[in-house]
Amino acid sequence: MEGFKEKVRTMELFQENDGSILSTLPGKVRVLVDAQYAALAIMDEAGKITTFHVSGMEESDVSKMSSHPTGLGLLGALHKSNSSIRVANIFDHPQSVGFPDGHPVMTSFLGVPIRRNGRSYGNLYLTNKLTAKEFTKHDQKIVEVMAEYVALSIENERMYVNETLLVEQVKHQANRLETLIENVDVGIILSDINDDVIISNKMTATIFGERLQAGNKITTCLEEYRWLRNDGTLLWDGQSPLEIKKVAPNSYDESETEITVHHKTSGKALSLSVIPIDQDGASTNLTVIRDVTKIQENETVKSEFLSMVTHDLRGPLATIQNLTKSLGIIKSGNELKSVRISLEEETENMAELVGNLLHMARVESGSIPYDPEICHILDLVNECNNQFERSRFGKSHKLHIHVASSLPSFYADHSLVLRLLNNLVSNAAKYSPTERSIWIKAHKLPFVENRVQVEIIDRGIGIPTHEQKKIFDKFYRLSNSASRVGAGLGLAICKHIVDLHQGNISVSSISGKGSSFKFDLSTV
Ligand code: ADP
Repeated sequence: MEGFKEKVRTMELFQENDGSILSTLPGKVRVLVDAQYAALAIMDEAGKITTFHVSGMEESDVSKMSSHPTGLGLLGALHKSNSSIRVANIFDHPQSVGFPDGHPVMTSFLGVPIRRNGRSYGNLYLTNKLTAKEFTKHDQKIVEVMAEYVALSIENERMYVNETLLVEQVKHQANRLETLIENVDVGIILSDINDDVIISNKMTATIFGERLQAGNKITTCLEEYRWLRNDGTLLWDGQSPLEIKKVAPNSYDESETEITVHHKTSGKALSLSVIPIDQDGASTNLTVIRDVTKIQENETVKSEFLSMVTHDLRGPLATIQNLTKSLGIIKSGNELKSVRISLEEETENMAELVGNLLHMARVESGSIPYDPEICHILDLVNECNNQFERSRFGKSHKLHIHVASSLPSFYADHSLVLRLLNNLVSNAAKYSPTERSIWIKAHKLPFVENRVQVEIIDRGIGIPTHEQKKIFDKFYRLSNSASRVGAGLGLAICKHIVDLHQGNISVSSISGKGSSFKFDLSTV
C-alpha cells in the first residue's frame, strides 16, 4: 500500500517547508508557545483539507503514519466552531476520535480556527506544551493573532486568484467574440460618427473585394451602389442613410435601418442593417451587411416561374374551353375530328406540365420514391414507344428503335427510367418539325465495363453551344422564344433521375441540325 508520505507528496498536501510564508508559519508559532508540534491545515470551501504544513515532526515520524489528518474528530469540531479549543489532554475532549496508526502521541492541544468575515479557511494546531501541562490563555491569544494574519493572507491570495481568473475569463470571452465576428458569414463594420471604419471583418473583404481598413469611409465602398427602399423606389442617390441621419436626425425613418443597395453595373444586391450603438457617450454604428444577390435572383426566378406557369396553364385551358364550346355547333365529322385532336394535344400539354411540376416538387421535398429492380432496356424502350404512339406526337413523328437484344439487364427504378425516356423523346418531338424522325439507340459503352448507353437523337432545331450547359438547370428554357414550349423542368428532372442511378447525362447538338441526348446506367 502506498505510504502516507507518498500520498501527501503527490497531493501536495503535506508540506514541511516549501519556502512560502504559510509553510514556515507552524514552526514560528511552535517556538512562540513552546509546543512540540504545530500544524496548519488549509481547507477548501467544502471543508476538505487541501494543504497541511507541519513543524516538529521528523521525516521518519511522517513516514510511520498510515494516513494524513482528514479533519474528523477534534479537528472537524474546530473547523465547525467559531472559537478556539484548548485542552490539557486531547482524549478528554468529547469529540476526540484518536489518532491514525503511527501518529506520535499527543496530549495537550490548542486549536485555533482560521476565520475571517464569516468564512472558514482552516485551523492552526499546537500540541504537547513542552514547558507546562497545557497551553495558557496567553498562548491562545498569540495563536489567535497568528490565525487572523493567516486568514488575511489566504483571503488576499484567493481574491487575487479569483480576480486573475475573472480577467482570464473576460479575455477568453473577448477572443471568442472576436473570432466569431471575424468568421461570421455576414459582413460586419463598426464605424464612428464620421462613417470612418473602426473595425471590419473578413466577410466584408469578400463582399467588397478588399478588406476595409480602419479609417476608410463606408460610403466610399458603397459609391457604386444605388440605395433602394423595400418597394424598389430610389432612396437617396449615392448618399448613405447614415449621413442623412447625422444631417437631419429627426427626419430619419427608423424603419429604414434595414436597406437594400444594388450595384449599379453588376446587379449585386446587399442588405444593410444599421444598428446605432452609444458607447461611452461616443456614437458608433454597427453595420451588418448580407449579400442577398442569390436570394433576390431566386425571388425573381420564383415570380417569373409563377407567371410562366399561370400563363402556360391558362393558354391550354382557354383553348380547351373554346374547343369544348365549339363542340355544340360542329356539323361535319372532319371538324369534329380536328377538334378532338386539338383537345387531346392541349390536355397532353397540360398533363405534361402538371406532371413535371409535381415531380419537381417531390424532388425538392425529397419524397421521390426510388424503388430499383432488375430492368431491361428493350422493355423500357418498347413501353416508351407505345406511350409515344398513343401521344399527340405519335401521328406527327416517327420513332425508330435500335436496341441490341443481347444487352445485359440493369438495376434501376423502372418508372423513373421510363419517365426519363419519355421526357427526352417528347422533347425530341417538341423541338423538331413534324414528320422528322427520332431515334432511340442503346448499346454497351465501349472501353467502359458494365455500362449501357442510351441515345435519343432528333433532327430538330438544335441547341446553340453556349446554352447546352444550362439546359439541365431547373426552369431553364432557351432564349430563342420559338422553343419556349414547356416549363423548363423536363431536363432538370432527367438529370435528377440519372444522378439517382449514379449515371451521366449529356447533350451534343448543332443549331438548326438536331440534338443527341445520351445517358448511361450500370448493368447487373
Ligand atoms: P421544357 O419542359 O421547357 O421542354 P426542358 O427542361 O425539357 O424544358 O428543356 C429545356 C430547354 O431545352 C427547352 O426549353 C428547349 O428550349 C431545350 N431543348 C430540350 N430538348 C431539346 C431538343 N431535343 N432540341 C432542341 N431544344 C431542346
